[in-house]
Amino acid sequence: RDALAHAARSLEHIDPQANPGQYAYSVFAHAEALAAVGRAAEALEGLDRIERSVGARGQVPMKAVYLHVRAQALHALGHWGEAYEALRQAQELDHDQQRQRLSDQAARLRMEFNRVRDAEELQTLRQLNEQGQRLRALQATVLVLCVVLLVALGLLARRKLRQAHRWRDLASIDELTGLSNRRAVLAFAERELAQARRERRGLAVLMIDVDHFKRVNDSHGHACGDEVLRQTAQRLAGALRERDQVGRFGGEEFLAVLPGAQLADARQVAERMRSGIEGAPLVRPQGQVPYTVSIGVAEAGAADDVQALIARADAALYRVKSAGRNIVLADVDEPGSARAA
Ligand code: GH3
Ligand code: MG
Ligand code: MG
Repeated sequence: RDALAHAARSLEHIDPQANPGQYAYSVFAHAEALAAVGRAAEALEGLDRIERSVGARGQVPMKAVYLHVRAQALHALGHWGEAYEALRQAQELDHDQQRQRLSDQAARLRMEFNRVRDAEELQTLRQLNEQGQRLRALQATVLVLCVVLLVALGLLARRKLRQAHRWRDLASIDELTGLSNRRAVLAFAERELAQARRERRGLAVLMIDVDHFKRVNDSHGHACGDEVLRQTAQRLAGALRERDQVGRFGGEEFLAVLPGAQLADARQVAERMRSGIEGAPLVRPQGQVPYTVSIGVAEAGAADDVQALIARADAALYRVKSAGRNIVLADVDEPGSARAA
């Protein structure tokens, strides 16, 4: 009865327009109290009055409470069928709510699961990415080191190669004239003779000796002799073709090797050398120094080795010297054919 008085008072204080929800719950409380004190018919009337507004705007929980209270009132009045029906509807609403809550919970759990899974995936991706970056950095470092190493090795190799070339050049070049030295020109002759054999081509050599060179030294000095040797070297080299080579054989003697040349060609070259030198004395501030060369020519025979070939050219040269110098003579020429200049 106290509750009934309180519920009635609260109803007076709530504006159904401004606060329909609260009003509805107050009506429910009031109706429950009425039913409890045996005034179920009034309770039912009160409920009937707000039935429309509960039906129109009430949320599911409110409707469920409404139906429960109504079922209570109907029960008290002995309307078993209607009470049962109201309870059934209330239960259905309860079930709906329960289902809704469960499905909401499932959706929340799913969302939570997705969030955690996404975060984990993101974390894994980040770790993979960092690992990738570290790997790439390592790769780049290794690559740079390799390049540096290769460049260093390349530079070292180039220096060694240059050094080797310099040593080889130093070992094969005659310092005074800049021509090949004896060893180098002999090696060239060996190589070219073997090649000529393979290709069944000719090869000729010229042994060239400056005439009365001792006299040049004696009359004009050793430095002048050196100049004559340098000029002779230039003249000889200038008279040769690209593939030929002339070297300083020793003292004032030179050896020219003419791959592919036959005796007639070699003789021509030799004559060009001889006449060129004869016609162009060394010019010095003190005056001209005329000089000449004698040349012995030999063409390689089938059985010749380099030594034998040079010996034949040397023999021809010796005969030139006997015949008076400043002449070209081949080893096969008749002694009488030598013509002193
Ligand atoms: P021939 O006509 O018979 O060849 O007489 P030649 O005087 O030319 O020959 P000889 O063998 O008698 O003398 C060669 C000289 O060459 C002797 C040597 O002092 C000189 N000689 C050798 N090498 C050099 C050199 O590098 N520079 C100078 N200036 N003289 C040299
Ligand atoms: Mg000599
Ligand atoms: Mg000489």
